[in-house]
Amino acid sequence: MSNDVVNYIKSLYGEDRFIPLHEPRFVGNEKKYLNECIDSTFVSSVGKFVDKFEHMLCEITGSKYAIACVNGTAALHMSLILADVQKDDEVITQALTFVATANAISYTNAHPVFLDSASDNLGLCPIDLQKFINENCEMRDGECFNKNTNRRVKACIPMHTFGHAVKLDEIVKICEKYNIFLIEDAAESVGSYYKGKHTGTIAKVSALSFNGNKTVTAGGGGALLIQDEKLAKRAKHLTTTAKVPHPYEFNHDEIGYNYRMPNLNAALICAQLEQLEAYVKNKRETASLYREFFKETEFEFIDEPKDCKSSFWLNAVLCKDTEQRNEFLKTTNDNNVMTRPVWKLMSELAMFKDCQKSKLINAKNYEARLVNIPSSVRLNNE
Ligand SMILES: *Cc1c(COP(=O)(O)O)cnc(C)c1O
Repeated sequence: MSNDVVNYIKSLYGEDRFIPLHEPRFVGNEKKYLNECIDSTFVSSVGKFVDKFEHMLCEITGSKYAIACVNGTAALHMSLILADVQKDDEVITQALTFVATANAISYTNAHPVFLDSASDNLGLCPIDLQKFINENCEMRDGECFNKNTNRRVKACIPMHTFGHAVKLDEIVKICEKYNIFLIEDAAESVGSYYKGKHTGTIAKVSALSFNGNKTVTAGGGGALLIQDEKLAKRAKHLTTTAKVPHPYEFNHDEIGYNYRMPNLNAALICAQLEQLEAYVKNKRETASLYREFFKETEFEFIDEPKDCKSSFWLNAVLCKDTEQRNEFLKTTNDNNVMTRPVWKLMSELAMFKDCQKSKLINAKNYEARLVNIPSSVRLNNE
């Protein structure tokens, strides 16, 4: 069965060489903008491409504000600072995510709490979120506190896994009710929409990533999408060393961060963003082909959830069980088709093993059975 998969994926990409999971495509103005950037000598943390990038992001996503960041992890860290997460607060996220989400929470000296994915959606389960609050939390002076730990539950970071949006309406409602600051980890969902809105524009603050394996890349890079003017100004200030503007004097009015995106990286991402729409169209076509192909197999294709128009950043299938998954991984990788199991659950990593968690029934099921399959933009698609 896995052999059929190998042959199908090779036919899809029209090549007999090694097929990676996700490789970048540079078919537009990348070299032109990079040359312009180098010729200008503005290759570092100021330059016109950084401004252009932020404008383009607002235009594409409909966000009120966009702030460039050096990478997605830094954007997540800054999101938590903007949410006023303090030492010993608790921040809720999903156990099934990339490690950056949990690491960023730790950078603020807050405690991550790992909750389950939905049964029909890889992202944070709103039912499990409500259950955690019902069983553990109470309101004190308008803030949510965990009665067992006596800590404030300050923020919640759902993650749009592989480009598929979480059940945002339900999660927004719960976070509003309990005064929990919502941050979307939209690192994987550039080009994805939830009920017609670009992911990352529903929460007041969200983080995007433009790492090399993402739908479009800056080489390395990230951004904040922000819907509040004061927070956007604060984000720009804090990510640029908290320097007070002055023609020549150095004055910094608080501890800031050098989370600026170099103009070189901004030049690359500007060229990439020009192609985002075409890339997402191409990736959605690949997903349709996979959907049809896997219908005839024992593997279950992970489709876009209800209310979501997904970028299908990374396609995935569910195997029957771990044994079948291991066979799938071995056959494909032995035959030059790169596939990968999903991440280990955060609650199983050494540094997070003592964190609070729920039963994680769905997350454990996904972890045992899920495989990612090649999803790069197909160049032979014309
Ligand atoms: C890629 C990614 C990030 C951020 O990644 P960077 O490599 O720091 O840009 C954060 N969260 C998730 C879920 C990701 O997939």
